[in-house]
Amino acid sequence: MRKDVRILLVGEPKVGKTSLIMSLVSEEFPDDVPLRAEEITIPADVTPERVPTHIVDYSEAEQSDEQLYQEISKANVICIVYSVNNKKSIEKVTSHWIPLINDRTDKDSRVPLILVGNKSDLVEHSSMETILPIMNQYSDIETCVECSAKNLKNISELFYYAQKAVLHPTGPLYCPEEKEMKPSCIKALTRIFKVSDLDNDGILNDNELNFFQRTCFNTPLAPQALEDVKNVVRKNVTDGVKNNGLTLKGFLFLHTLFIQRGRHETTWTVLRRFGYGDDLELQQEYLFPLLKIPVDCTTELSHNTYLFLQSVFDKHDKDRDCALSPEEVKDLFKVFPYMPWGPDVNNTVCTNDQGWITYQGYLSQWTLTTYLDVQRCLEYLGYLGYSIICEQESQAAAITVTRNKRIDLQKKQTQRSVFRCNILGARGSGKTSFLQAFLGRNLQKQRKIREDHKSFYSINTTYVYGQEKYLLLHEVMPDMDFLSEADLACDVVCLVYDVNNPRSFEYCAKIYKQYFMDSKTPCMVIASKSDLHEARQHYSLTPLDFCRKHKLHPPQPWTCNTVDAPGKELYTKLTTMAMYPHAKLRCMCSCNWCTFCICQNILRSQLLRTIKAKFYRVILNRHMAQANLKSSTFWLRASVGATVFAVLGFAMYRAIIKQR
Ligand code: GDP
Ligand code: MG
Repeated sequence: MRKDVRILLVGEPKVGKTSLIMSLVSEEFPDDVPLRAEEITIPADVTPERVPTHIVDYSEAEQSDEQLYQEISKANVICIVYSVNNKKSIEKVTSHWIPLINDRTDKDSRVPLILVGNKSDLVEHSSMETILPIMNQYSDIETCVECSAKNLKNISELFYYAQKAVLHPTGPLYCPEEKEMKPSCIKALTRIFKVSDLDNDGILNDNELNFFQRTCFNTPLAPQALEDVKNVVRKNVTDGVKNNGLTLKGFLFLHTLFIQRGRHETTWTVLRRFGYGDDLELQQEYLFPLLKIPVDCTTELSHNTYLFLQSVFDKHDKDRDCALSPEEVKDLFKVFPYMPWGPDVNNTVCTNDQGWITYQGYLSQWTLTTYLDVQRCLEYLGYLGYSIICEQESQAAAITVTRNKRIDLQKKQTQRSVFRCNILGARGSGKTSFLQAFLGRNLQKQRKIREDHKSFYSINTTYVYGQEKYLLLHEVMPDMDFLSEADLACDVVCLVYDVNNPRSFEYCAKIYKQYFMDSKTPCMVIASKSDLHEARQHYSLTPLDFCRKHKLHPPQPWTCNTVDAPGKELYTKLTTMAMYPHAKLRCMCSCNWCTFCICQNILRSQLLRTIKAKFYRVILNRHMAQANLKSSTFWLRASVGATVFAVLGFAMYRAIIKQR
């Protein structure tokens, strides 16, 4: 809504413009008035709409045409004053004033006009008969009013109408010729109805109506008032009330009624509360509230936002199968101006056997959007009415900006719940498969995916020490010469090679040496297609020796050519590496990444104070003993350690939790 209102009075000399202004200010009729009143400003708190209002007089004798044109272009509303006892002054309204004003304003941004018939004290009859045809002819005329500066009739009303014409214009809402609301207004109110229909049954029941009333007008609706409203609708439209609630038809009728009765500020209050501006578009400030994201911080959804999104899901999952059918998705996005999800989303997140996005997948997609493009996420939440339904100041309240990653690294702990893993590898090495397998799809299922529906991202949850975390996988296009900052920025890196292709490891080795050798980002080498014959790699070192040389975890054999869904262990491992990158600290068994090593780090950083040193030492000794068992086969030793202490680590974790 506007911050102030500028009212200009024009008209023939001696119709009483200056007297009207003086009467308003002094509340009595001045016998002597100057040619032109000084510009006055009425402070916000004494105007009905609580907006500072400037009133500007015009005098042909004192002002040039140029000055008049300037005032016209500055005005928000123009009152054309005539005198009811002076025919010529009425004629001049159409022959002079309206054309003059229209010539000086843009067709698209016409100022509202108000016809003011002054000196009503001097005549018995009304001038309305002459005025109504003019009103019908010019849609810019907001309203007309007859008044008298002399006996103070309708003076404050006149200025109130002028103010209202600026703050709550009928133009965008209503078409007087058709006697119905304009399409853009119907569209906005329909969206508002859908957002407010919390259970999505097409009816606003008493609870929903009360919530709506409270959000828009800050006061609850008395039970009798609620009944009265419904009765009015019942009497006037069939199907306006159903199951004792308001249907969309009834809701729209009600607003038409408000507008027709000159109470269009009610409709405007509703529209503005739901984020609309004067052009009936959702406003930028509503969709894109200011949100500062410092460097090295990421964006996640707050707990309450997940709850909100859950309620949106429930509202649209009509058949309660915990997945959204194409129709259900369409219905969910009806409050959007466009369809935000393309077919690639179905290959970015988990789907059910029919290929429909599951509840888990739906939340994952929201998490992904929040992480990758928070502005978009804010926009989407705006369409869903997040800030209104959750009674928040703005959409920005939905977002948690994480702590700077450098502080996380220093403190060796993180509160983040989304971690990004970039997947690099030569063409055909199995990157896409690795992404798809994370969604539980084996090779057979992956073959059914259309090329143009593929995604460079996949996201799902993993559990790390009992905590649910999101792991976001991103497939980076193989380009040796140029990897951008964005390609490199992540929490953990996967270097994928194809065991069956002798030329594929070289790419991983080069990429590692060029970009990651000196970085702090943990790396994991994945030996993909492990179901196929392992070819000797054309590279100076074998992958195993390469990893050993660079103190990397040994290459992880991996395949998605499985009967069931491919296993999730590797993804859990990646998430753990992403969460605890500092766990580079060498384990006593010299393995970098066995679960025990990681566990040890957690103990050190978070839980050490709470565990008994003795208990810790017993476990550690056992681990060392196990690690020393076979000194000949280094890697085998490490992997035995990993499996044994994966179990031990978990037992210890449980014991610690119990103690707490
Ligand atoms: P302006 O030139 O349009 O600013 O008109 P003025 O305010 O100077 O008024 C012109 C004359 O009309 C003055 O003599 C006023 O006293 C008189 N006048 C203004 N308003 C009224 C009114 O409501 N009733 C009557 N009877 N006279 C009025
Ligand atoms: Mg005057």
